[in-house]
Amino acid sequence: MRTEFDVAIIGAGPAGSVAAACLARKGWRVGVFEQGHFPRFSIGESLLPQSMQFLEDAGLLARVQEAGFQSKNGAAFQHGDRAQSLNFCEKSASGWSSTFEVTRADFDHILAEGAAAAGAEFCFGTGVTGFARTDTGTSMLSVVDQMDQTHVISARLVLDASGFGRSLARILNLERSSGFPIRSSLFRHVVDHIDDADFDRDKILISIHPDNPSTWYWLIPLANGLSSVGVVGTEADIEMAGDDDAQRFTRLVRESGRMGELLARSTPTRDVARLTGYSASVTSLTGPGWVLLGNAAEFLDPVFSSGVTIALKSASLASDVAHRQLSGELVDWKADYERPLAGGIDTFRTFVESWYAGELQRIIMNQPQEPNRLKEMIISVLAGYVWDEANLFVQNPKRYLKLVAALC
Ligand code: FAD
Repeated sequence: MRTEFDVAIIGAGPAGSVAAACLARKGWRVGVFEQGHFPRFSIGESLLPQSMQFLEDAGLLARVQEAGFQSKNGAAFQHGDRAQSLNFCEKSASGWSSTFEVTRADFDHILAEGAAAAGAEFCFGTGVTGFARTDTGTSMLSVVDQMDQTHVISARLVLDASGFGRSLARILNLERSSGFPIRSSLFRHVVDHIDDADFDRDKILISIHPDNPSTWYWLIPLANGLSSVGVVGTEADIEMAGDDDAQRFTRLVRESGRMGELLARSTPTRDVARLTGYSASVTSLTGPGWVLLGNAAEFLDPVFSSGVTIALKSASLASDVAHRQLSGELVDWKADYERPLAGGIDTFRTFVESWYAGELQRIIMNQPQEPNRLKEMIISVLAGYVWDEANLFVQNPKRYLKLVAALC
C-alpha cells in the first residue's frame, strides 16, 4: 500500500469520489480509504438536478448517464386525496432540470471507478481509525486494512468524506447536535408492479400521512421495475406502528393512502432496514490539515433529497480550495469553503423546519397549476439550486416562506 499522498480521503461515497476525481484530474496524488467493499447498498437514491453540474465538473457525468438509471424530472406530493406535481423545468435558476433516481450500490461504484480512472488510488476494505498532525504540518491517518494490518498514511491534506461514519468528528470530538428532533426511517426495495397509468415514474412521490403530517413517505421509482419505499416519523410514532419493523413498515405504508394502493402488488427484494437519529452537525468543518465533506460534516433530513447534492457541492468547493492551497496559494477555508457551503445548507434547513411545522406542506399543496415567479423559486430550491443568490428563498428563506405561507 502506498503511504504518501498529497490528499488522503476517508470514504468513497459520492463526496469522497467526486473530490478524488476533481483533485486527481488536476494531477495531485490522491488516496481514498474506504472501509467497505463496492458495490454495497446505501440509502439516498433520489438526486437533485443541481447535482448534475457537480458530476459534470468532476468529469463523471458521462459514466452516470450511460448507466441506465431511472430519469427524474420533478416531485409529486400526495396528502389524502390532494395531489401536487412540480416540474423541475419550471425552476427559476438556469442549469439542469432533470436528473436520476439511482441504486446507490451502482452509482457509488461508478463514481469510484471514474475517480480511479482519473488517477486516484482506492484502498477498499481499509478503515480509518486515527488522525494526527506532525510539527511540520503533515496530516497522518492510521488505517487498518482487510488483513487487519495497521498502516500510517501521510498527506498534505485530509478530506473526511466518511458520511454517517463521521470519522474525524468522532476522533477530534467535533460532534454537535443538529437541533432536529430524533426521527426514524424504515425503508426497503421492492419490485413495485405499479400499472397505474397516472403514476409518473419520472418523479419521486412524497406522501404525507393522512392523519399525522409529521410522518411522511417516499416512493422513488428506480430502473427495471424496482422502487425504493421509505417512511419517516418520530421515533415514538414509528415504534407505535407495530411489534417489529416489518410489521410497522407494512402498516404505515397501508395507511399512506394512494402510495399504499400503488404498491398493493409489490414484492420486497430486501428486508426492511431502519435508521434512527441520522441528523447531525459539527462544531467546525475545517481545521489544521483536515476538511469535512458531505455527511461527515452535517446531515439535515431526507425530506428534500438534499444529501447527495450537498455532499457533491462540498466535494466540488473543497477540491477547488485544496487545489489552490496545494499549489502554494494562501487560502481561507472559512471564507472560501465553510461560509459558501453553509449558505445553501441553511436554505435547506429552513425548508426542512418549515416542512415539519406544516407550512411548507401547505405551500406545496396549494401551488397553482400555472407558473408564477414565487413557484419557480420554490421549485428551484427543491431542484437543489440553494446556492443561487438571485432566488429570494435563498436570500432570506425564513422571511419568504412565512410570507408565502400566509398567502396560502
Ligand atoms: P456516504 O454516502 O455515507 O459515504 C461515506 C463512505 O465512507 C461510506 O462508503 C462508508 O463505508 C465510508 N466510511 C465510513 N467510515 C469510514 C472509516 N472510518 N474509514 C473508511 N471509510 C469509512 N440523499 C439524497 O440525496 N437523496 C435521497 O433520496 C436521500 N434519502 C435518504 C434517506 C434516509 C433515510 C437517509 C438517512 C438519508 C438519505 N439521503 C438522501 C442522504 C444520503 O444518504 C447522504 O447524504 C449521502 O449518502 C452522503 O454522501 P457522503 O459521500 O457524504 O457519505
